[in-house]
Amino acid sequence: MRGQLPGSEKEIDAVTEDLFNAEADVLYVREYHCPVCEVVAPTRLIRSGKNRVTGRDMDLRQRYEPADAEKYTVVVCPQCGHTAFLSRFESITEREIKALRQWMKPDQGLEEEPVYSYETAYARIRCAMKDAMVRGAKPSETGYIALHTAWLIRGWREMLEKDAAEGKSVPDKQVQQLRDMEKHCLSMATDRLSRAMETESFPIAGMDEMTFHYLLAALNCQCGSKETAAQLVMPLLRNRQTPPALRILAEDLRDELRPRR
Ligand SMILES: [Zn+2]
Repeated sequence: MRGQLPGSEKEIDAVTEDLFNAEADVLYVREYHCPVCEVVAPTRLIRSGKNRVTGRDMDLRQRYEPADAEKYTVVVCPQCGHTAFLSRFESITEREIKALRQWMKPDQGLEEEPVYSYETAYARIRCAMKDAMVRGAKPSETGYIALHTAWLIRGWREMLEKDAAEGKSVPDKQVQQLRDMEKHCLSMATDRLSRAMETESFPIAGMDEMTFHYLLAALNCQCGSKETAAQLVMPLLRNRQTPPALRILAEDLRDELRPRR
């Protein structure tokens, strides 16, 4: 039995509309230039300073209000379908452009919307992964996309759990499905980023060596590989050069790795 009665349909609609408007207020449209087909790709971004950080997860995902920043990370070309993270969209090599011209198909029914739903944002980030695969992107890039996909799915699940707590009807099956999808993406991110550490030089995915080791430790912990997590995090605790903010995270992770009584 629920602890409280759900609000009326009208109340729920009004709250949903307020949330929609609050999110729309922090967005603006920026035009990117598609290097594959030369058209302009408009995309919605978050105005700097308008979104509030409300917390951080062990794996460095930041939570924001009113807009989940993970929904606004990807640019999609409306003509050729080239899709990538903001920093990669325009800066791809001639070889990558050639591969995309050969293999990408304009899709995808991804219309620009005033506010991206989680369904839309998920479809966009999936296209970014497909694009990276076609380009033969490095493990650091596919690992980074998998990590952000996991974060996006986590935000989606948290929204549904909040809806359920407020009395809206949310199928348990959908929440479980999102949990499974997140787990799969975290495991993929761990695999790719581990490979990146062996084959690429720092900075990797925009991170210095210490931050990267911490992240990989946190991901291994989340995926149940506690021994690997400890091997990565303990040197950070022993190293006097570890910055204080990262040390605090590393200490929390070490506590998380301790066997529970
Ligand atoms: Zn294009």
